[in-house]
Amino acid sequence: MTFLIVITVALACVILCSVIEGLFHQYILHTPQQKLFGGALYLSYHYHAVEHHPAYRAEHYHRPAPDTEAPISLGPLMWPALMLFTSPITVGVWYFLGWKAGITVPIVFTLYYISYEFLHWHMHFPKKDGSPRWYHAFPPSSQLFKWFDKRHYIHHIADDRNYNVVWPIYDLLFGHYTTDEKVVPWAVRRRKARALRKSQEIRKQLEKKVS
Ligand SMILES: [Zn+2]
Ligand SMILES: [Zn+2]
Repeated sequence: MTFLIVITVALACVILCSVIEGLFHQYILHTPQQKLFGGALYLSYHYHAVEHHPAYRAEHYHRPAPDTEAPISLGPLMWPALMLFTSPITVGVWYFLGWKAGITVPIVFTLYYISYEFLHWHMHFPKKDGSPRWYHAFPPSSQLFKWFDKRHYIHHIADDRNYNVVWPIYDLLFGHYTTDEKVVPWAVRRRKARALRKSQEIRKQLEKKVS
């Protein structure tokens, strides 16, 4: 029974991790939040959207890491902030479902965060000579890595899709998921159609005023 509870909590945490990752990536790393928390998160936007994205776009996406490469990590404060942010969930699960389920929460969040940093670093930086690392060279890990890598490659071409670096549950739920550069996900299509309709309405209103 305890085993089933722990597995259920772990799966729920993976879903939550993916949703938090997607929301953070979309609304903090790609949206300049100058007022939220007194602008404390604005620097994250600057490092990611202003510096990281253009530096690794298209043909520059995979490139050997220069010795002087600026870190692409989310920084040393991200993991403690994540533990603090999720501590009410940890305490709640611990209290109602026991310590084994409770300790599962920070473990899953930590593993997910390590996966993010590991994958993102390895996506952009092959070995210095440009060849893939051994675990990227052979199946099945090479196929799995290619799937992660392709999604993030598309994100660097069009930053309104594939917000998840790790598991794309958020992207699938909210219509941002694609593994094909030519396929526009449904939420992006809907947003573009809405923007087009709005501009057409304004144009019609202006034409009416003129006539
Ligand atoms: Zn990246
Ligand atoms: Zn991004």
